[in-house]
Amino acid sequence: MYSVKNRPYFTFKNSKGIEYGVFFRKPNERIHGYSDGVCEDPKYPEPKIEISPYLTKKTELNTSIHEICHAFFWDKSEAEVTKFANTVTKFLYTKCGWRKMEAKKNEPRRKK
Ligand SMILES: [Zn+2]
Repeated sequence: MYSVKNRPYFTFKNSKGIEYGVFFRKPNERIHGYSDGVCEDPKYPEPKIEISPYLTKKTELNTSIHEICHAFFWDKSEAEVTKFANTVTKFLYTKCGWRKMEAKKNEPRRKK
């Protein structure tokens, strides 16, 4: 399993029961070329998804949907996954107004 230093931000199992770890870190350019995110082959031991922490909120949403889609539907083409993720992002972000909220650090809790 994961070491304490290398603990994923999130884990999930795909429809075939394969566990993925999701990490917010820059995908290695020497291996993947420039990329906002990567998803490893589900055949890999402890397959990972890496999402760059330097994206805009909207691109982070799109990249998250895109890479998780790969994890579930590994046989689908890049074009199919891209179209799916772009459609979900457009619906959630543009039509429904979904936004990421950042937790404010060091702010005392207000009493109700
Ligand atoms: Zn892709």
